[in-house]
Amino acid sequence: MVDFTLTDEQKDLRELAHNFAEKEIRPVAWDYDRDGTWPQEIIEKAWEVGLMNTHIPTEYGGPGLDYLAGCLIEEEMGWGCSGIGTSLMCNGLATAPIVIGGSEETKRKYLGMLAEEPKLASFCLTEPDAGSDVSGMRTTAVKMGDQYVINGSKCFITNGGYADFYTVYAKTDKEAGHKGISAFVVDRNLDGVTVDKKEDKLGQRASNTATISFNDVAIPAENMLGEENHGFKLAMMTLDRTRPGVAAMAVGIARAAFEFATDYSKERVQFGVPIAMHQAIQFMIADMATKIEAARLLVWQSGALLDQGKRNTLASSHAKRFSADTAMEVTTDAVQIYGGYGFIKEYPVEKLMRDAKIMQLYEGTSQIQRLVIAREVLMPRRAAEPAAA
Ligand SMILES: Cc1cc2nc3c(=O)[nH]c(=O)nc-3n(C[C@H](O)[C@H](O)[C@H](O)COP(=O)(O)OP(=O)(O)OC[C@H]3O[C@@H](n4cnc5c(N)ncnc54)[C@H](O)[C@@H]3O)c2cc1C
Repeated sequence: MVDFTLTDEQKDLRELAHNFAEKEIRPVAWDYDRDGTWPQEIIEKAWEVGLMNTHIPTEYGGPGLDYLAGCLIEEEMGWGCSGIGTSLMCNGLATAPIVIGGSEETKRKYLGMLAEEPKLASFCLTEPDAGSDVSGMRTTAVKMGDQYVINGSKCFITNGGYADFYTVYAKTDKEAGHKGISAFVVDRNLDGVTVDKKEDKLGQRASNTATISFNDVAIPAENMLGEENHGFKLAMMTLDRTRPGVAAMAVGIARAAFEFATDYSKERVQFGVPIAMHQAIQFMIADMATKIEAARLLVWQSGALLDQGKRNTLASSHAKRFSADTAMEVTTDAVQIYGGYGFIKEYPVEKLMRDAKIMQLYEGTSQIQRLVIAREVLMPRRAAEPAAA
């Protein structure tokens, strides 16, 4: 049976997230965007009410919510402000490799740390010469006794300037391409860890995006996540789990733009009638509505598959690609419906259009999602294959 009805618990959670977005995020979102303000106060409040770290299992102090519930929260955060939302949700990306591959001790220490206090973690995969193709990474981790020594630099790291620890991908076998990558947890306060550069961005300006360098950083060998040289697989498994949430945030951005545009179309009068009376505007609004509904269904499917313990690689790429492109298209159309006013910063929709762009770029660009979709379609794996864990 297919039933799209949310449980009472899911509805309550969505309401909690919506109210938080409406009361704590929306009133400051456009100011924070203008000034690039770091949303520390909002992070602390979101942590207090239980909207952060939702996937941390209960045995490590988290709420242990399911993936669909996480998607409901992320849509509301995206509706409020996806820049602030990205800052709030990034711990989920950073901790997924720990949940999947960390030892019991590592989980207790690092997941427990985030559950106990409003602290932050970052996911460090991208490098200047290794974006879509992570096999080109140059960061190395060399085993020395009971330690690994890490050298290299990671760019575009969300929350990088404020994180207390990082999940870092590095080459443990330089000759083996993506099969020579391993993942590690690295504490921020270790000697040799530096935050080098904060990026000035087109959109999501309230989120922090930084370059992090590791210069002879020695970490205990037990901080390796999973097995040596299995880091690429861990990163891909992480993205399977986090793309539904990112896609949900894109749906939230699109929904916000859609709401502003429909309201405006009923108020703005041209040629003697509200512009909503013109069929060209109606059709734009109809297409926006359909895309948002379709995107949300893909998001829910990709989250629900994970909750059923099934592999969701194809579904999460469908969701991420379609929702990101939907966010871009819907926000662009929202600017169109506002006419010249849409281009002016005093009106709300240009921010949403700028914010939407990143959804097509981070956690795998829309082209990379298409590569994954094509691979899964042309060389399908068994549908009932369980999610690797
Ligand atoms: C604001 C922001 C936050 C980010 N946060 C994080 C983070 O927290 N952690 C992290 O590790 N990374 C993060 N990233 C990095 C992000 O994931 C990468 O920017 C992204 O994966 C693309 O890599 P690239 O920028 O090097 O682009 P490139 O890989 O150089 O791609 C350039 C263009 O070529 C296309 N392309 C590349 N290869 C192919 C191909 N085989 N076929 C077709 N098209 C192709 C791409 O789609 C893109 O359009 C962030 C980036 C930004 C901007």
